[in-house]
Amino acid sequence: MSRKLGADAMNEQVRRTLVSSLYTQPSSLAIGAFNGILVSLAAAWFVQNAVFTAVAVAMTVAALVRVAVAFAINPDNARHSTDKLETIYEIGAFAYAGLFGLLAGMAIVMGAGAGVEVLLVGHALCYGTGISARNAGRPVIALGQMVLCFVPIGVGGLLEGSAGYLVMAATIPFAMLAMVAITSNTFLTIYQSIAHAQASRTMATKMERLARTDVVTGLANRAGLNHALVQAIMNVPRERQIALFWLDLDRFKEVNDLLGHQTGDRVLAKTADRLQSVVPAGSTVSRFGGDEFVIVSEVDDRAACEALAVRILDDLHRPMEFDREQLEVGCSIGIALMPEDGEDADTLLQHADLALYDAKMGGRGRSRFFDPSMTRDLANRREIEAELRAAIQRDELSIFFQPIVDLQTGKIRTFEALVRWFHPVKGELRPDQFIPVAEETGVIVTLGNWITKQAAKVCAGWPEDVTVAVNLSPLQIKAPGAALGIMAALREAGLAPHRLELEITESVLVDDNSATERFIGDLSAKGVRFAMDDFGTGYSSLGYINKYPFSKIKVDRSFVSGPDIGRKTQAIIHAVAELGSQLDMEIVAEGLEKAEQVESVRAAGCTLGQGYYFSRAVPDYLAAMLLAQERGEHGSAIGRGLQATG
Ligand code: C2E
Ligand code: CA
Ligand code: CA
Repeated sequence: MSRKLGADAMNEQVRRTLVSSLYTQPSSLAIGAFNGILVSLAAAWFVQNAVFTAVAVAMTVAALVRVAVAFAINPDNARHSTDKLETIYEIGAFAYAGLFGLLAGMAIVMGAGAGVEVLLVGHALCYGTGISARNAGRPVIALGQMVLCFVPIGVGGLLEGSAGYLVMAATIPFAMLAMVAITSNTFLTIYQSIAHAQASRTMATKMERLARTDVVTGLANRAGLNHALVQAIMNVPRERQIALFWLDLDRFKEVNDLLGHQTGDRVLAKTADRLQSVVPAGSTVSRFGGDEFVIVSEVDDRAACEALAVRILDDLHRPMEFDREQLEVGCSIGIALMPEDGEDADTLLQHADLALYDAKMGGRGRSRFFDPSMTRDLANRREIEAELRAAIQRDELSIFFQPIVDLQTGKIRTFEALVRWFHPVKGELRPDQFIPVAEETGVIVTLGNWITKQAAKVCAGWPEDVTVAVNLSPLQIKAPGAALGIMAALREAGLAPHRLELEITESVLVDDNSATERFIGDLSAKGVRFAMDDFGTGYSSLGYINKYPFSKIKVDRSFVSGPDIGRKTQAIIHAVAELGSQLDMEIVAEGLEKAEQVESVRAAGCTLGQGYYFSRAVPDYLAAMLLAQERGEHGSAIGRGLQATG
C-alpha cells in the first residue's frame, strides 16, 4: 500500500515536470502563434468569405490568448495545481489546432484556389506534426492537437472528391498512425529519463541524510554538525552569538568496559535524549564518535551560555537507570563562543576542544570557556612531545639518584631514581614539565622501560644491601606485558628482584582494575617491592594499604614542609608511623630540608627520610661516591648532619 502510494507520489512529481515542460519556452509558442495568425488572416483576405473570416479571427484570438496565458503563468509556482495547468493548456491547444484544421478543410471544400489551399493545408499539417513532437510529454494533448489538425483536412479532401484529394484523404490516417507511434515512443523516452532523474534525486537526498546521522543515537554526526555549524554561522543575527559546547562523558569508558557495549550504547542514547531536551529549540546536538558530543546553540551572551552549561552538567549528572543498575556518568564541557573565540567553524571546534581538555585536566565534571593561553599550552605540549621521542634516542635524558636514609643509623638504604632531561636549548627540564606530556601521549611506556633498565643497571653496581626505587606511571602498569618488561630489565641488569622497589601513587589504584592487580601480584610474587608514593594527597589510601602488599609508605612532602605544618600534621605522621610499625611497613618522610624537620619526623616514628637536607638527586657516579664514602669512613658521611643534630 505504502509502496503504491510512494509510486503515485513519484508519478505525480514526474507528471508535474512533464506538464511544466508545456509551459517552458513561451517564446516558441509566440513564434508559432504569429505564424498561424499571419497564415489565417492572409487566407481570409484572399477568400473574402464571412464565415471563413470569422473562423480565421477566432483562431487569431485563440492564438493571442494562449500566448498571453503562457507568459502569465509560472509553472514553478506551487499554487497552480498540475490539473489546472494541464487543463488550461489543453483548452487553448485544442481550440487553436481545431480551428487551424477547420480553416484548412474549409479552404479545400470552398475551392479557395491552389495557393490558399497549399498555404493552409501545408501549415496545418506541419503544425499538427510538429506539435506532436513538441508536446510528446503529454501525449493526450499532442495527439489531440494532431488529430484536430489532420481530420478536418481529410474530411475536406473527401468532400471535395477530386482524385488527388481523395488519395490525400486516404493517406492521412496512415500519417496519423505514424505520428501516434512516434509520439508514444518519444513520450516513453522522456518519461523514463525524468523518472530516473527523480529517483536518483530522491536517493541522493536519502543518502545525504544518512551520511549526516549517527546510527547509535540518531543525532547528527560529525558531518551533520559541520553542516549545521556552517548554517548557524551564516544565519546568526548580529546581536546574538553562537556557542559551541564540546562534551566528553567522564565515566563512559568504565561503563563500557564493565557492563559491555550494549549498555554503553544505551548510555549514549540516553545521553542524547537528555541533551536534546535540555538545549533550546533550534540547537543542534551531535555525537562526535566515542563518548563525545558537540552542541551548537545560539545564545544572547556569555552568561546565557554559562547557564546552559550548568543545566547540561546537572542533567548529565543525574544517575541513569538500566535494569535496576544506577549509573552515574557525568561529563566535562569545553566552550567556545563566536565571534570572540573564533569566526569560523574549524577555529571554534579547535578552541572548544582545547577548553574541554582544560576542563578535564582541572578535575572532571566541570565546564571551561576557551582562553587564548590554552593554545600556547597546547603548542608547548606538542613541541615537548615531538622532542621527547627524539631525546630518548639522542641520550639527552639521564637518571639522577636521591638517597633515602635510615633515620636511626644515618645510612643510605635506597636511591630513588629521578629522571632529568638536559635539553640542548631549554636547559635542564624537571620531570613535572615532561612526564605529564609523556603520560598523555603514551611515550611514557618507552621512557619508563628505559628508566627501569638504566636504574637497575646502576643499582647492580652498588653494595648488596642498597636498593633502588623507580617511579611508575599508571599507563606503564596498564601497558600489555608490563610485568614482563620489568622482569626483563632486572635480568638484563643482573639485579635481584628484591633490590627493586616500584613507587606508585594512589591514582594508579583509583582506576583499580584487574590489570593493576595482576601487575602488582605477579611482581611481588617474584620478590619486587612496592612503595606507596605521595601518601596523604589522595583520598582512601588505607583501603589500598590493606589490599596491596606495600612494604613502604612515603608520606608526601606537604606534611613535612607545607605551609600549614603544625600539630595536626604531626599527629597524622604519627598515626601513619604507628600504622606502619603495626603492619610491618617502613614509613618514609619526603622533602626533609631542615634539621628540625628531620628531628620531628623521627620523633613521630618515621623510619626513613629523604630530602635536600641529606642530598639532592645526583648523577650515578656521585651516588657511588656517597656510598663509598659512607662505607669507607666507617659510619655515615651523609648522616653526619643528622648525628650532629640528633
Ligand atoms: P616524587 O616521586 O614525589 O619525587 C620526589 C620529588 O621531590 C623529586 O622531584 C625530588 O627532586 C623532590 N625533592 C626531593 N627532596 C626534596 C626536598 O627536600 N624539597 C623539595 N622541595 N623537593 C624535594 P622531581 O625529580 O622533580 O620529580 C618530580 C616528580 O616527577 C616525582 O615526584 C615523580 O612523581 C615524577 N618522576 C620523576 N622521575 C620519574 C620517573 O622516572 N618516572 C616517572 N613515572 N615519574 C617520575
Ligand atoms: Ca617517587
Ligand atoms: Ca613522592
